[in-house]
Amino acid sequence: MEFIRPVSVVSKLREFRLLFNNRTDLHFYTDGSLKHSDQTLVNMGCAWIETSNPEEYRFSVQCTDYASSSRAEAMAILTALLTAPKYCHVTIYTDSAICIQLLTKHEYGSHHINGKTVNQMIWCYIHWVIQALHLHISTIKIKAHDTDQLNNDTDRLAKETYKNDLPIFFIDHKFTFHHPILVWNKRIIEFNHRNFINQLYQAQLFNCYISFRRNINLYELTKKRLINWSLINSYMAYDYNGKQSTSFDASYWKQFRLKLFTYTIPTVEVLKNRHPHLYNNYSWTCPNDVLRLKYGATTKTMVRCQENESLEHVFLCETVRPIMIQIIKNLILRITSDLRSIHPSRITKHVIHKLSSLPYFNPDSRLDSDISLTQLIQGFIPDSLFDFLKNFGCNASEIKHIVCSNLNWLVNEIHSKIWIPRCKNLRLREIAVGILPEHKKKGTLKKINVNNLTFPVIHYLDNPVVQHCDNDLWNIWIEYSCQTGKPWQDF
Ligand SMILES: [Zn+2]
Repeated sequence: MEFIRPVSVVSKLREFRLLFNNRTDLHFYTDGSLKHSDQTLVNMGCAWIETSNPEEYRFSVQCTDYASSSRAEAMAILTALLTAPKYCHVTIYTDSAICIQLLTKHEYGSHHINGKTVNQMIWCYIHWVIQALHLHISTIKIKAHDTDQLNNDTDRLAKETYKNDLPIFFIDHKFTFHHPILVWNKRIIEFNHRNFINQLYQAQLFNCYISFRRNINLYELTKKRLINWSLINSYMAYDYNGKQSTSFDASYWKQFRLKLFTYTIPTVEVLKNRHPHLYNNYSWTCPNDVLRLKYGATTKTMVRCQENESLEHVFLCETVRPIMIQIIKNLILRITSDLRSIHPSRITKHVIHKLSSLPYFNPDSRLDSDISLTQLIQGFIPDSLFDFLKNFGCNASEIKHIVCSNLNWLVNEIHSKIWIPRCKNLRLREIAVGILPEHKKKGTLKKINVNNLTFPVIHYLDNPVVQHCDNDLWNIWIEYSCQTGKPWQDF
C-alpha cells in the first residue's frame, strides 16, 4: 500500500484490511463509472461492495486520466484486492470483459503486460498485489444494468464519487515493479506506446502545417469545429478504382486534390508569387474572357476578365458560373440518388430541399458559420454535411463512401470543364508574350519577360512571414487527450 496516494484513501483501505484479516474468502462486486461533463472535463469514479455485509463493507473513490470505463473498473479491482489478507480466495463480480480477461491471464501464469496493454500501471500493480499476497482469484461475469441488486448498488456508488467529490486515487510514480514505462511531459503513458508515439508525431506535424500562414482559414475552421478531419483523411487517400492502386492516373488525381487542399494549384496569383520575373505586371489577371460593354461601343464584346485569379475566382468567375451551377445541380442529384439507394422511403421533398440549401452548394454563399463552395471543392469537408448524412440514417462507412465518391466526381468535373479550358486560355496568353514551359522549371536561368515589363518587378515573397498560431499547441492537445481518453483531434 506504500505506493497508494492520497493518505486518506490508504487509511480507509487499511481499516478494511483489519476487518477482513481473518477471512479466507472475499466476494467483491466492482464497478467503474465515467462521465464526460464537457469537452475537457471528465469525471471517473470506482467502487466495490463486499457481499458479507453490503451495507458496511463498501468503498468508493475518484480517479483521473486516460478516462475510460475499463480504467475505472481496473481501479475498483485494485482497491478491492488491496484489502485482502494473505492467501485469501477473492472472487470478483464485474461486467467488464476486458478486466476478466486481464485477471485470468495472471491465472495462467503468463505475464502479458507490456507497452501494448492499456492502463499498464494499474494492471502491473494488480498483478504485483496478487503475487505479494498469494491471492487466489476467481472472476464472475455479470450483466451490466441487470436486476442484480448489489451490482446496481455498486454502480450507483461509483457514480456518486464525483457528485460527492471524493478523494482522487492514484499510484505513486515510485512504484517500479513493472516493465519499462514511457514518460512524456512528466506523465506516464498508460496506453499502447506505439500508438502514443504515432499520435505525438501526427499532432506535431499537424500543428506545423496548420500554423502556415496560408492555412489561417483552415485553422479558424478547425477551431470552430466546422470541418471533419477524419473524412478529409479518407478523402485524400480515396481512390475511385476501389483499390490502393499506384497507377499514374490515380496519383495524378491524388496530387490534384492535394494541390487544391494546400492552395498550390497554379492559379495566376500563385504563378505571380512563384515566377515574379515572368508574370510581372498587373495585366496578369484571370485568363477567361467575359462579355463587356466597351467604352463608347454599343454592343458587348469579349474582353479578358479583369479580376485577379485567386483560387476562389477560378470557380466563381462569371465565365464559368453557368457551368458551375450545372455541376452543383448534378452533384446534388448524385447524392440524392445515393441516399435513395440506402433508404428509399426516407427521400422526401423536405430532405432534398435541406440538402440543396446547404450553404456550400450555393456559389454566392459566404457564411462565416460554414464552409464555402470553394472550400468544399478544396476538400474541406464540412461537419454539417457529415451531420446531415448521419441524421438521414447513414452509417459511418456509407457516409465515407458518399462523401468521397461524390467529392471526387465533383473535382473531376471541375477539372475537365473549368480547369482545363482555363489552362488553355492561359497557355495562349503565355505564348503571346513568349513565356515557355521551360522558363518555369526550377534551376533554369531567370528570364525576365521584357515584352511584359511595364511595372517594376514586385517581390511578393518578401512579405514577412507572420505566424498566426502557436507551434506548441500539440502539447495541449496531447495533454487533453491523455486526461479525457479521447483522440487528440478532438481538441
Ligand atoms: Zn475571371
